[in-house]
Amino acid sequence: MSILVIGSIGFDDIKTPFGKVKNVLGGSATYFAISASFFTDVNLVSVVGNDFNKKHFDIFKKFKINLDGLKQEKLKKTFHWSGEYTHNLNQANTIQTRLNVLEGFKPVIPHTYKNIKCIFLANIDPELQYEVILQIKSPKIIAIDTMNYWIERKRKQLLKVFKKSNIILINETEAKQLSKEINLVKAAKKIMSFGPKIVVIKRGEYGVIAFNNNEIFTAPAYPLKNVFDPTGAGDSFAGGFMGYLTKCNILNNANLRKAIIFGNVMGSFCVENFSLDRFKNLSWKDIVNRFIEFKKLTHFENIND
Ligand code: AMP
Repeated sequence: MSILVIGSIGFDDIKTPFGKVKNVLGGSATYFAISASFFTDVNLVSVVGNDFNKKHFDIFKKFKINLDGLKQEKLKKTFHWSGEYTHNLNQANTIQTRLNVLEGFKPVIPHTYKNIKCIFLANIDPELQYEVILQIKSPKIIAIDTMNYWIERKRKQLLKVFKKSNIILINETEAKQLSKEINLVKAAKKIMSFGPKIVVIKRGEYGVIAFNNNEIFTAPAYPLKNVFDPTGAGDSFAGGFMGYLTKCNILNNANLRKAIIFGNVMGSFCVENFSLDRFKNLSWKDIVNRFIEFKKLTHFENIND
């Protein structure tokens, strides 16, 4: 089984309390694809501009990501985002979003992608997410992520995508904004009424709370001593989560729980360095070891043991 992802590829300017970087490779599809590539074959759909060069393509190639669905527009610039984190590392403040090449983009799904069963609609214009769903023959799992930028500007189009999705991954603030509820349990119920029956709410350094109909699962984030740059944590979480689900092929509660832990593992690696740097020398052994640490971290005995 392999996975298809549509999302943004961009250059980011990021400022955190620990430093700043300019024009580093980022974008929702980038973080997702690289993280998921540790688990399964990844097929990308996105668009880049004339400022995207060999050095950038090579990063995707290093992780064996299929780029048949990646278009390059010679007359426009790549998507650009600048954001800042102050003391609350869970909340990125967007300083500027330049859609550039994403504006007017019409995704065309290559023939080789049409029978893919697992789809991840990473954070991007919901109209593009919808166009991708329409072009896939018989998807089995459709998961979606989004953010305040699209909730505020394209709510109606977003709700159309939700109707077709079975999983939503969303951060806490955006879950509240989308559902117009303050309580997370109520927020999840409301979001389920929009379509997806599995709602995974990402809470940054406080971990994850996931709802699968009436089942609830919570997991902490990995207690890191140094969080360097939170950018991409959500997409890297999604990569581990969806990558594992794609690999195991059965969407039951046991697999969902393990997928969430793999998501937490990948999110925790992402934030240990700027941009995608931490993934460059990450091994499967590192991933497994951190998974085992999670098991220890959350294990406790029965009441009478
Ligand atoms: P995350 O920190 O996982 O939520 O995602 C960070 C990535 O999202 C950054 O690398 C940005 O390039 C990308 N991003 C920011 N704003 C948008 C947007 N409006 N649409 C698509 N991608 C975005």
